[in-house]
Amino acid sequence: MRALEGKRAIVTGASSGIGAATARALAREGATVAVGARRADRLADLGEGFVALELDVVDPESSERFVSSAFDRLRGIDILVNNAGLAVGRDLFDASTEEDEEAVLETNVHGLIRMTRLCLPHLSDDGHIVNIGSIAGRQAYEKAALYVASKFAVRGFTYALREDLLGRPIRLTTVDPGLVETNFSVVRLRGDEGAAAKVYENVEPLTPQDIAECVIFALTRPAHVNVDEIVVKARAQSSPSRIIRDRP
Ligand code: NAP
Repeated sequence: MRALEGKRAIVTGASSGIGAATARALAREGATVAVGARRADRLADLGEGFVALELDVVDPESSERFVSSAFDRLRGIDILVNNAGLAVGRDLFDASTEEDEEAVLETNVHGLIRMTRLCLPHLSDDGHIVNIGSIAGRQAYEKAALYVASKFAVRGFTYALREDLLGRPIRLTTVDPGLVETNFSVVRLRGDEGAAAKVYENVEPLTPQDIAECVIFALTRPAHVNVDEIVVKARAQSSPSRIIRDRP
């Protein structure tokens, strides 16, 4: 029997990167998985067997529709992986705009909080919420004020929610990765693929699969074990701003 056989999971932001890898890993372990993203067409790349639904975590109606459809199709929810997130720009804070601030905070903070609020009443006993935070939520670095603020907020929300859930049969974990090679940098650098490739130059970053396995680890501990946080970085990275780039 596979470790998550019979479990019903939701993964937000599963059209790419860490979300896609996590959805695949959950399915491999036997879970039935509902996946959501704005680019719903991309969810087909995950292959067969997923419940693929359009989701914009910034939009309350889209989020409500997604949770209600996922709940109906899965006939319950055991696992919520709050993964959808982004950064916009890599500039000094002086360059920030109303649009950038709204995009980052609405997606990473309000979107995650909204999805948690909507899923919580449906979570089964022995439920588990996994938030994908970041090392940016633990240590600030330059030219990343909005993203850092958003991930510190995710960490604060996670710990406050842990207090509110105490005594209920729901586990809560934050997985906080360092540098992971995904589409994240292309989005952050506003579509500049050359600049995004440089982020991963001469270093072996983490892969989305590395993060997915951390999520699976937390989910597959015995029910009385709550892995509060997993902080995971590439061997060549010690902090958001210190990366050894000595790879040929
Ligand atoms: P990615 O490849 O760009 O994936 C981001 C995912 O989020 C996409 O599937 C995207 O789908 C989805 N998304 C963005 N806005 C959304 C919205 N409003 N509603 C629904 N889905 C939305 O980047 P990633 O690296 O896998 O990022 C996943 C998470 O990991 C994020 O929370 C990020 O902050 C975190 N993280 C990444 C790194 C890293 O180095 N890559 C490090 C630490 C933490 P659509 O565009 O189709 O909606």
